[in-house]
Amino acid sequence: MQETTNILHSIPTDPLTGALSVPIYQTSTFQQEAPGVNKGFDYSRSNNPTRKALEDCIAQLENGIAGFAFASGLAAVDAVIKLCQSGDEILAVDDIYGGTFRSFEKLYKKFGITARYVDTSDLDAVHQAIRRKTKIIWLETPTNPTLKISDIQAIAEIAKVHGCLLVVDNTFASPALQKPLDLGADIVLHSGTKYLAGHSDVIAGLIAVKTQELADEIKFIQNATGSILGPWDSWLTLRGIQTLELRIEKQCRTALEVARHLVSLDAVDQVNYPGLFFHPNHELAGKQQKQYGAVISFSFKEDSKEIAETFVCNTKLFKLAESLGGVKSLCCHPASMTHKGTPAETRQKAGISDSLVRLSIGLEAPEDLINDLDEAIKKIKVEPELVQ
Ligand SMILES: *Cc1c(COP(=O)(O)O)cnc(C)c1O
Repeated sequence: MQETTNILHSIPTDPLTGALSVPIYQTSTFQQEAPGVNKGFDYSRSNNPTRKALEDCIAQLENGIAGFAFASGLAAVDAVIKLCQSGDEILAVDDIYGGTFRSFEKLYKKFGITARYVDTSDLDAVHQAIRRKTKIIWLETPTNPTLKISDIQAIAEIAKVHGCLLVVDNTFASPALQKPLDLGADIVLHSGTKYLAGHSDVIAGLIAVKTQELADEIKFIQNATGSILGPWDSWLTLRGIQTLELRIEKQCRTALEVARHLVSLDAVDQVNYPGLFFHPNHELAGKQQKQYGAVISFSFKEDSKEIAETFVCNTKLFKLAESLGGVKSLCCHPASMTHKGTPAETRQKAGISDSLVRLSIGLEAPEDLINDLDEAIKKIKVEPELVQ
């Protein structure tokens, strides 16, 4: 079945009224017929019909056995870390999302759960980095903001040999482009805030798992910690997901056009986009993903913060903001925004130069976006102090 057909029909009609749109069950509790006798719902932290519709939807989309919705992407990250116990180690992709890095380093280290980082696009490096106490291998692919790709299937095999779990943060690709559970991962998680909800109007986190054992564990953690997504935000996320495939297909096509245009510009140095033939992981991206994604990053030939800042302040359609995956295009300057807290040397090593700019491609017409970029680049050139 085609993806959109699958998504639309994974969302149930309301059994009580026949409502095609899942009702927002804004209730904390449910009347019981007798003590312990209920219709499958007793208290909304444990289970809520609107949240359940979303949870079943993400499970189906990711081909998992069960899905879970959390208050944010980071709450979903937190639930997965809680599968570990003191003494366990997480082996993570080296340019991992900053908030996940912060959880590993600033929250869980003191409980004896440690993380080490490796370039997971290098399979030998992954092999060599695994220790007896490695409990989880944690991937993001593509990564933020340099868009490195890791081979999920190959790393799933390594994980299996060593008896560890493979967790994939699938936020940048979304299930419309890549299905990690089908490639051998055990757990897939999302910041639903990005492509899944897709309209820059909600903060949400989602998890799908492959086995009943993991489903039981995550369900226990979700209920025990209470970091659930509310019914209204569940409904908004569900509403967004219904057009996921349509949106992302168009966004990816536009991204390829924009990336090719950036390559042709004199002022631009490196363009990072997996869809470009010279991207180091182009072939793997083509094999592993349906399309190449809708995030691009690039640097300027004159590698200065000022150039990049002038640029991002002069785009009109590309709004200067953190986040990605929405219907409106966004731009950001990682060195002074998302990666401000990262030491300069670590940033440079990760390929996040001073002039690196990240673009999230929305649903505007490609020619309008290209025109907007061209006009902003002209502003750089006419700044007198920059021309000297
Ligand atoms: C945004 C993001 C998160 C965190 O999600 P929130 O919804 O902001 O809590 C986690 N991982 C990746 C890759 C992200 O881009």
